Amino acid sequence: MVNVADSVRQAENMGIVYEKIDFDPSALAAYIRDTVDDLAEGVARLVKNRDIEQIRGHARFIESNQVYVDGANTIVRFSHAVIATIRINELPENLGTDPDSGVWTSDQALTVPEIPSSLLVIGGGYIGLEIGQAFAGLGSRVTLVEAAPHLLAAADPDLVQTVIKQCKKQFETVHLNSRITEITKNDAGFSVKIVTENGEITGDFSRILAATGRRANTTDLGLSALGIDTNEQGLIPVDDQCRTVLPHIFAIGDITPGPALAHKAVRQARVAAETIAGKKSAYDNVSVPAVLFTRPEIAWTGLTETAAKKNRIPVTVGKFPLTALGRAKAWAGPKGL
Ligand SMILES: Cc1cc2nc3c(=O)[nH]c(=O)nc-3n(C[C@H](O)[C@H](O)[C@H](O)COP(=O)(O)OP(=O)(O)OC[C@H]3O[C@@H](n4cnc5c(N)ncnc54)[C@H](O)[C@@H]3O)c2cc1C
Repeated sequence: MVNVADSVRQAENMGIVYEKIDFDPSALAAYIRDTVDDLAEGVARLVKNRDIEQIRGHARFIESNQVYVDGANTIVRFSHAVIATIRINELPENLGTDPDSGVWTSDQALTVPEIPSSLLVIGGGYIGLEIGQAFAGLGSRVTLVEAAPHLLAAADPDLVQTVIKQCKKQFETVHLNSRITEITKNDAGFSVKIVTENGEITGDFSRILAATGRRANTTDLGLSALGIDTNEQGLIPVDDQCRTVLPHIFAIGDITPGPALAHKAVRQARVAAETIAGKKSAYDNVSVPAVLFTRPEIAWTGLTETAAKKNRIPVTVGKFPLTALGRAKAWAGPKGL
């Protein structure tokens, strides 16, 4: 929807003029719900067509070959298991745990409970940027605070620059090397103290998005009784075949160390399935694409330039600007938007 609105705004250059673009938050929320429901139904159909039985509930290991599924009140016995229980959103301790406080996790923000007049985004990773840019497109005044000196730490800096340029146009302010020191709730929202590179400032915001990272969802799985340890981030270490320390129990996706990105999860799922089926398979993270749905979108595969240089691997950089691409120019997207 934000993309559509941006296209409408750009269309003015092409002579298509709208008096005013407005948003109806409840219609937008319904559109998001319908889209998610459609996708979920599509996946449910794929599952059914493959004769996979779906049991809804919270699964917990009770033996090395059994899980108990709360909610369905059933025990499932297995010869092999794959754990894919994601990293979950959690509000940082200093921001409280009240889901109605006006401090949003990304899950809450994605339901678009409202379009706040001002939004403070804490965290300059892909989640903070994707959601911050979406709300900026909907008309919120967005301020972003990031503790590190850069945004999107995993991507090459020249790619990130293109997103920063866009954020500078869309956001009120981007504070790097900055920290939140105090949040006070008031009638209008929040008063927030931020220590920036240029000293302490205080800002007023209607809503806050906490995009400071997600917690591994491993605490209530019964892993320790099986002898499956997690690392200091709560993630499950796996070998190249995505096996845990128990050779018949695999783990894939966000719950394993490394980036929390969709293509990694998909590739690991394939490796685990092929290994269980007796095929030779291995996860080679160098060939897995990373795609960030920022504006402009960023994607890469293989080593980044930064990682190659760090490992003293010679790099040749080739660049082709979208401004030179006729199709992009005609579509009014010469900056990759
Ligand atoms: C706001 C946001 C933006 C993102 N943007 C990008 C992006 O731009 N690019 C990108 O590549 N990735 C992005 N991601 C990350 C991407 O969504 C994840 O990497 C991917 O979904 C991980 O797949 P998964 O299989 O590990 O987990 P999921 O696809 O989330 O599935 C895990 C499932 O396990 C269920 N579950 C958890 N615990 C239990 C239990 N005990 N019993 C039974 N079921 C359980 C959960 O309910 C959930 O349905 C984004 C994520 C968020 C939140």
